[in-house]
Amino acid sequence: MTEPDGIRAFVAEHAHELAADLDEWLRIPGISAQPQYHPDVQRSADWLAAAFTRTGFPVSEVWPTDGLPAVYAEWPSEDPGAPTVLVYGHHDVQPVDPLELWEHPPFEPTLAIVDGVEVLRARGASDDKGQLLFHLLGLRAHLAQRATQGKATPAVTLKFLIEGEEESGSPNLATLMTQRRDRLDADVVVITDTGMLAPGVPSACTGMRGLVSCRVDFAGPGLDLHSGVFGGAVPNPATALARLVAALHDNEGRVQIPGFYDDVLALTPAERELFARIPFDEAQFLRTAQSGALFGEAGQSTLERLGARPTAEVNGIWSGYMGPGGKTIVPSDAHVHLSFRLVANMDRAAVVAGVDEFVAAHTPAGITAVVEWNGQGVAPLVVGINTPAYGALERSISRAFDGLPVLPTREGGSGPEAEIEAIIGAPLVFLGVGLPDDQIHAPNEKVTVSMLHKGAEAAAYLWAELARTDLAA
Ligand SMILES: [Zn+2]
Repeated sequence: MTEPDGIRAFVAEHAHELAADLDEWLRIPGISAQPQYHPDVQRSADWLAAAFTRTGFPVSEVWPTDGLPAVYAEWPSEDPGAPTVLVYGHHDVQPVDPLELWEHPPFEPTLAIVDGVEVLRARGASDDKGQLLFHLLGLRAHLAQRATQGKATPAVTLKFLIEGEEESGSPNLATLMTQRRDRLDADVVVITDTGMLAPGVPSACTGMRGLVSCRVDFAGPGLDLHSGVFGGAVPNPATALARLVAALHDNEGRVQIPGFYDDVLALTPAERELFARIPFDEAQFLRTAQSGALFGEAGQSTLERLGARPTAEVNGIWSGYMGPGGKTIVPSDAHVHLSFRLVANMDRAAVVAGVDEFVAAHTPAGITAVVEWNGQGVAPLVVGINTPAYGALERSISRAFDGLPVLPTREGGSGPEAEIEAIIGAPLVFLGVGLPDDQIHAPNEKVTVSMLHKGAEAAAYLWAELARTDLAA
């Protein structure tokens, strides 16, 4: 494919700069979940702020929070009327346990050839340091192209907000964004923390599931009772709780919480058609899960179940005697942890109310129930694929992949993205080049080097595309 902008050539010529930056940054073990590494999270923030300055950002600051620091950088465009883009990512990483399963030390970045493909192994290589640093290479390519037009700044005003606590649930991000809201105005938010389907199958995340979770406690008799003296004549909380759990789904795998599906935004026929085009290897999926069978809501494909449908899941259940041998009792109490993955446009409060109602309806006489919710949970998010911003993203990614179509995908997990959308009030798009087998959060995390180069290319195209797109259309 002809490449008039010279972006691809620039990325190839300067790829060693990305490699050198990554080698430095990946050596900093910025694990946000473990206090002994918190000085390293600070070092990681300082390193990134310096890298933004080195790239030419006139503004680069470390923003403290009540927890771990975020990094903010800004580069205004000289073009009148240029749109503003806010890029979100995170510089902290996941813990590395169990260390003995790593084939290389997690904080000594190692290049390897796996099945003929160059990969970089280290904690954070894919999630999220590699994906942030491709932006700096992509931006340098974009600036080199702008220089040929006599311009010294990007075609869009660029802002980067890179937090240091994403892997710990982003506890201070909303407060930080609210406090600094006057600095964060943007026309589009680009989330850089997701992946694509395969090296030859470019895609873009267009939604993430939300989450609420709770613990249900059933209390029956005031003490464990002799099952010969009392069994059969008083309610057994373990049996009652088992009946409640069994009633969560019908025989078609549909969740029976009242009103559960009322607000669910169903996939359109066009979206279902796009889902059907996503390559999915069922055998590989089952191997990865080490599961003997698929399960789920009738009438939905596995990818639809994972991305576009809500769930009710039992995470743990316990009651009575759990030691060796037997113990003939009617237990006095029973407990279950439940969690619910939510999709657009489900309302967390409505789900909580529905679950409370469901538990009350399944609590028999003589049993008392307490439902304890774990905080507010995470709101679900879906982004439109017919917006001008998504169109610009799609064209940019497609160009980096020699004109291949870009498939919209949904992720089953949850991050702070819905909160970002609510606070910034601008449309979100996702530019991420991780791959499903990057082993993020697991031992031997890696990133495919050529995917980082594609990310750099797509980012370089994206700034030019967004500058010439009418985002209000
Ligand atoms: Zn991440």
